Amino acid sequence: NLSPRLSAVASFVPKGARMADIGSDHAYLPAHLLLQSKINFAVVGEVAKGPLENARHEIAKQRLTDVTVLRLADGLAAVTSADQIDTVTIAGMGGLLIRDILATAKARGQVFETLILQPNTDEAVVRQWLIANAYQLTHERIVQEEKHFYEIIVAKPGKQTLSSLDLTFGPFLRDEQSPVFKAKWQKEADRIALIFEHMSAAGKDHTPAYQQWQTRYQQIQEVLS
Ligand code: SAM
Repeated sequence: NLSPRLSAVASFVPKGARMADIGSDHAYLPAHLLLQSKINFAVVGEVAKGPLENARHEIAKQRLTDVTVLRLADGLAAVTSADQIDTVTIAGMGGLLIRDILATAKARGQVFETLILQPNTDEAVVRQWLIANAYQLTHERIVQEEKHFYEIIVAKPGKQTLSSLDLTFGPFLRDEQSPVFKAKWQKEADRIALIFEHMSAAGKDHTPAYQQWQTRYQQIQEVLS
């Protein structure tokens, strides 16, 4: 069974999608979707040999070799136009890496009907890239696994403008104000409060860095209120 994080990613994959999972490691996500017959074809992309072997092992174990293509490749170079991929999942990587993978794909002329992204960090960078590159956000979800919070961002081709608060907090997540969302940002506010104490004690409370933290802190208060 999938973790809550990967279940949330899976929930956004359209039924019957031709999917590519980039940075798949054990291929748990495509294997699960294929076993459930939610999809019937997947490209599994991995840049590293060890993880690709993990994927190969899992796909063979689940007897899914006929409906899966495994490729050792950097990012979306794993996908060819003949694959007719409409849905791309990229989960469990930093947001900067996800952005770079998307940017390289775009430079190659690759556009996909549905992107399902789960950055571990720098979610705002991912949102910013999407709206600057002719994608619009259609769904967002936030899940918690123990002390970690994960955001899932779903995008499709289209036009959208987002405010600075939307970029940081997510337009849908901010609107929804789920308990998990509140817990994530309360935790971040508490962390920043500690940073303030340390910076004040060190006489650094009139620095630009302090002001940046203050801006972020005030944004959190505004969004949570
Ligand atoms: N997607 C799975 C998940 O969410 O559980 C596995 C995440 S794992 C932490 C990240 C994987 O991304 C690693 O297996 C790594 O080799 C792969 N990776 C990193 N950079 C990549 C790239 N440029 N192209 C393809 N895969 C990449």
